[in-house]
Amino acid sequence: MIKHHPQTELLNQFVEGTLPAGLSIAVAAHVEMCPHCQQLAADLESKEAAVHLGGDAEIYVDSDLEAMMQNITLCDDVDEVSEYIQPKFEYQGKSLCLPRAIANTDRSNFTQVGKIARSRLMLEDGEYRSSLLQIGPGGEIPEHTHTGFELTLLLDGEFEDESGHYVPGDFIWQDGRHNHSPRTKEGCLCFTVANSPLHFNKGISKLLNPIGKLIY
Ligand SMILES: [Zn+2]
Repeated sequence: MIKHHPQTELLNQFVEGTLPAGLSIAVAAHVEMCPHCQQLAADLESKEAAVHLGGDAEIYVDSDLEAMMQNITLCDDVDEVSEYIQPKFEYQGKSLCLPRAIANTDRSNFTQVGKIARSRLMLEDGEYRSSLLQIGPGGEIPEHTHTGFELTLLLDGEFEDESGHYVPGDFIWQDGRHNHSPRTKEGCLCFTVANSPLHFNKGISKLLNPIGKLIY
């Protein structure tokens, strides 16, 4: 079961459309995977609509929608639309559908260092960098912290760190207050957003720098 969700403040900004692109994609992907946040986002959306449309928003929206649906069903020249088939994403011998917000964004090929491989999403997003990250079975990321933040949305597989064990859909927010060293037994696929390089706590950072660069 998903245990880690975006904070209400983040969901609010998502609904208002004020989040940076990478974070907006992360929240959209989580909402697609999490029925609980789907409901919350829908509630926030109708509240937001009510604010913009004035006091009678609900009545207005309902009758408007009814009229629109009637127009559509009465209209003869609506073509049949073929069903959208989501492309499959292949990794570590598995095949899965990525959340739409991620699948619909262009990204680079995967670059690999050891068991970690990263594909960067092509977004004009300032200091925010968004990536798909694969970690092979038995892989781990050396203990590190962040001067900014790192958001990890687990898409497939499992991983654990000092704070717990995570399942697909978990939305994990880390910042300078956290030290962690994620590791996976079976391998995993994550979507990450970060706004600063990683800071490694142990070992020779020169050796770890390629990993830090890869992940940010
Ligand atoms: Zn959720």
